[in-house]
Amino acid sequence: MKIGINCGHTVSGIPGCGAVGIIDESEETRNVGLKLEKILADAGHTVYDCTNDYANSTSANLSAIVRMANAQPLDLFVSIHFNSGGGKGTEVFTYGGTKHAEAVAVCDKLHALGFANRGVKYGSSLYVIRHTDAKAMLVEVCFVDSASDVDLYHKLGAETVAAAIAEAITGQTVINTESEELTVTQYEELKSEIDGLKPMIYDYMDDNMPEWAKPTVQKLMDKHILVGDDKGRLGLTMDMLRIFVANDRAKLYD
Ligand SMILES: [Zn+2]
Repeated sequence: MKIGINCGHTVSGIPGCGAVGIIDESEETRNVGLKLEKILADAGHTVYDCTNDYANSTSANLSAIVRMANAQPLDLFVSIHFNSGGGKGTEVFTYGGTKHAEAVAVCDKLHALGFANRGVKYGSSLYVIRHTDAKAMLVEVCFVDSASDVDLYHKLGAETVAAAIAEAITGQTVINTESEELTVTQYEELKSEIDGLKPMIYDYMDDNMPEWAKPTVQKLMDKHILVGDDKGRLGLTMDMLRIFVANDRAKLYD
């Protein structure tokens, strides 16, 4: 898909910036939006960043966003925002309030993460919805001035929120690269990789023991310099064998 992503508003403190509550909308639209862009690009989609950081006014910001969005044909335009003004949860605005699949899925996915589902709403009066050529939606992730929304948002992290939106608009499953949970397959692969890195241990005077090391090891055992553990395991690495043999050649054990 060709997807235009807008991190809503200008940066904080500039004309056109977002609402400030417990968190700052301008900062969080970028935290979520830029991660969303990366996830979509990694999943093979063509992503156009339609973010305008600096403008002289709100209307200049909005027209700059629309210019970037309409500069190429898009399958979907998504503007990321955070709400304010007393309320809780997620809502998505579309042209005419059309409940297209991506918009409904964003509400459902964010609801599944714990946000209240305020649904898909009439957004034709919103500049970026009205003026973009592509199918468009404006996502209000949650409320910057709701303590419970902000707590949940912080608990989840911007990456998880971005991944949920990406899954909603593409239908593809996103592997959260920041997650510390490994799948069983990932665990098995990692385990065999680590096992491969483990040094070979020579415990006994058997066929595994390199021929060149045997006389020295035998000598050290005879002299009770090497006695092994309580089960008689020598626990020698290749490096240790080399050092013993070199010392033996230097006649340190004679
Ligand atoms: Zn906003």
